[in-house]
Amino acid sequence: MPINQYANSFVCDLVAYETGKPIDETARELGLDPASIVKVASNENPLGPSPKAKAAMREALEEANLYPDGAGFRLRTAIAEKYDLGLENVVIGNGSNEIIELLCHSFLNRDAELIAAEHAFVVYKLMATLFGAKYVEVPDPGFIHDLEGMADAITPNTRLVFIANPNNPTGTVVGQEAIDRFMERVPEHVVVCFDEAYFEFLDEPFDTLKFVRQNRNVAVLRTCSKIHGLAALRVGYGLCGKDVAAILQKARQPFNVNAIAQAGAVAALKDDEHVEQTRAVNKQGLDFYEAAFRTRGLEFVPSVANFILVNVGDGDRVFKEMLKQGVIVRAMRGYKLPDWVRISIGTAEQNARCLEVLDSVLTPVAV
Ligand SMILES: *Cc1c(COP(=O)(O)O)cnc(C)c1O
Repeated sequence: MPINQYANSFVCDLVAYETGKPIDETARELGLDPASIVKVASNENPLGPSPKAKAAMREALEEANLYPDGAGFRLRTAIAEKYDLGLENVVIGNGSNEIIELLCHSFLNRDAELIAAEHAFVVYKLMATLFGAKYVEVPDPGFIHDLEGMADAITPNTRLVFIANPNNPTGTVVGQEAIDRFMERVPEHVVVCFDEAYFEFLDEPFDTLKFVRQNRNVAVLRTCSKIHGLAALRVGYGLCGKDVAAILQKARQPFNVNAIAQAGAVAALKDDEHVEQTRAVNKQGLDFYEAAFRTRGLEFVPSVANFILVNVGDGDRVFKEMLKQGVIVRAMRGYKLPDWVRISIGTAEQNARCLEVLDSVLTPVAV
């Protein structure tokens, strides 16, 4: 009998998350030198990891024979101090993706509903499906989360609302006023997850930690994968109302964040210089692309994050053609945006190369 008859149907039906194409794989398939490839497909930090994190990880290697601190005391203390919160508010995860999963473990079931925006980060939908819950998608005109509409969608069965802010892949943000009005309307039986993976790139940051301090049922997610340049480590964290945090701690595996990663994250969180450099390089890159797209008359979504969504007519074709020239961008068909590609901001050199290659595939060659 086929395995599908024994396995959960909502797992069998799942279409797995499609990651950015790895450099090694591209090099193998196209016979290119890996060093010549520019990957601007996964919103990674083009400056590399924080040098302080690298030093701390080298040191931590010496004790790789020991299990990690299961409670993550040093890392959770560093996080709590950074945000002036209590240790009881901090949950660490194997990437903030794991915290998303822990929220679903804790609050979803087959009768529950999860609300997210139409063009939100696709992991929420995958997780809702994986837990057999109902995924409720709210339109986001102009690619901006409609928090009023999301509050309207809440029912007695709603357990989770995800607000990616800034959102990936759109790069748009919702501000304080909209957030505050939304939180006034959210009933207690709904846990609100503010997924703030790109928060550190904002010039005008909003405050969601006040809801954590008020012990509201919220989880504010941050990550070391983006601004800190540590995507390979898989470290993210949730800043949660203490009741929510206590539940997530139960759902977590004891050693979910490895010791090398914990050590690297502690150092990275204190490396303000690396964060500032990253912000500066990113800002220049955003300006570069926006000016270039305007000049070329290409439609784009103004971004506050470290990537930009641009309408190229046929995203799959442009992705494939650019790949042949060693530049990896992300096609957006999976987000129901087949005309668009998402480009992560790189160094000035990478941005120039990416644009040059984009131009070459958009401009018909004269015969
Ligand atoms: C990149 C990203 C994350 C972070 O994922 P990690 O698991 O921490 O690497 C979370 N949410 C969104 C919206 C993202 O784009």
